[in-house]
Amino acid sequence: MKTVLVTGGAGYIGSHACKALASRGFLPVTVDNLSTGWAQAVRFGPLIQADLADREALDTAFRDHAPVAVMHFAASSLVGEAMQEPGKYWRNNVLGALNLAEAALAAGCPNMVFSSTCAVYGEQDGVVLSEESLLAPLNAYGSSKRAIEEMLRDFGASDGLRSVVFRYFNVAGADPEAEIGECHRPETHLIPVMLEAIDGQRKALVIHGNDYPTHDGTCIRDYVHVTDLAEAHVRGLEWLMDGRGSRVFNLGTGSGFSVQEVINHARAATGHKVPHRFGPRRAGDAAALVSGSKRALDELGWEPRHSSLKRMIADAWAWHRKGGYPG
Ligand code: UDP
Repeated sequence: MKTVLVTGGAGYIGSHACKALASRGFLPVTVDNLSTGWAQAVRFGPLIQADLADREALDTAFRDHAPVAVMHFAASSLVGEAMQEPGKYWRNNVLGALNLAEAALAAGCPNMVFSSTCAVYGEQDGVVLSEESLLAPLNAYGSSKRAIEEMLRDFGASDGLRSVVFRYFNVAGADPEAEIGECHRPETHLIPVMLEAIDGQRKALVIHGNDYPTHDGTCIRDYVHVTDLAEAHVRGLEWLMDGRGSRVFNLGTGSGFSVQEVINHARAATGHKVPHRFGPRRAGDAAALVSGSKRALDELGWEPRHSSLKRMIADAWAWHRKGGYPG
C-alpha cells in the first residue's frame, strides 16, 4: 500500500482528502498538531501529533512511513485573523512549509500537493480568475500562500521538488456520508455560521458589508464542495506519480454567488429561514472571487460534480444536525 503524508489531515479539507485517498487504496498518514483539527477526524490512517516547526518529528515521520508524496494542508487560514495577526501567518504557514519541503527533500520524497488559495489573487475588478491572473493578495493569509508557491518553485529549480499547487476558492459542504465534516472553534465561515443561526446557536448571521460593487452589494464567492476538492487532490497526486511535473490549478466552479444568494438557497436546502442582519465590511475581503477552472478540467479531467449550492448546504446541514466531533 502506498503511503501519503497528509499535514493537516485532522482538519476540514485534509480529513476529506484522507477519506478520498483511502478509498483509492492509499494509506494517509496524518501529521497534525491538533491546534484547530480533531483527532476524531483522523479515521483513515494513523495520526502523528506534531507541529511542522518540529523538524525532528518530520524526519521521523518520513523515515517511519516512507511516503510517496506529501499533501500539505496544515496552515492558519482565516482572513480576519490574518489582518490582526500577520506574524502568525508568516510564521505558521511559511516556516512550516519550509521545514516540510526541506524534510521531504532530505527524505527523498520530492512530490508535494499544496493547498493554496484564491486569496493570492486579491481584488481584480470582477474578472474570472485564471491561473495566469496577477497575484495581488490583500491579506497575510494570501501573501503567505503566495510566498510558499514561490518557495516550492525555487525548490523545484534547485532540488527537483515537484509540486501540484491548488488554489481553492470557497470550500463548503461535508462528506455526503456525514462521517466527517467542517468543525471550527470558533466558526467564522459563511455556510456553517448560517446553519448555527438557523438552529439558534447564534442570534443571527451578520452579513459583512452590503455596499460592495456587486449586483446586491454583498460579496461574491465561488463555492466548491469539499468532496470535489478531495477528488482533485487524488488526481493531483496521480499527476505527480505519472511524472508530469509541477503545475498550478484553480479549483472552483466558475459560478459566483453573493452572500445574499447563499442565504436564499439555504431556505430551499434546509426548509428554514436564515436570521440575518447587515454589518460593516470585514477587512481583507475582496468584493468578488470567481474561478476559471478550465485547466483542472482539461488537464486533470476534474469536474465539480457535487458543487451545486443546494447540495453543499444540504450536506453541511446533515453534518451540522449530526453534531459531529467535540466531546
Ligand atoms: N461572510 C459573512 N458573514 C459571516 C461569514 C462570512 O458575510 O459570518 C461573508 C464573507 O465576508 C465573504 C463570504 O461570506 O464575503 C465568505 O466568507 P468565508 O469566511 O466563508 O470564506 P473566505 O471568503 O474568507 O475564504
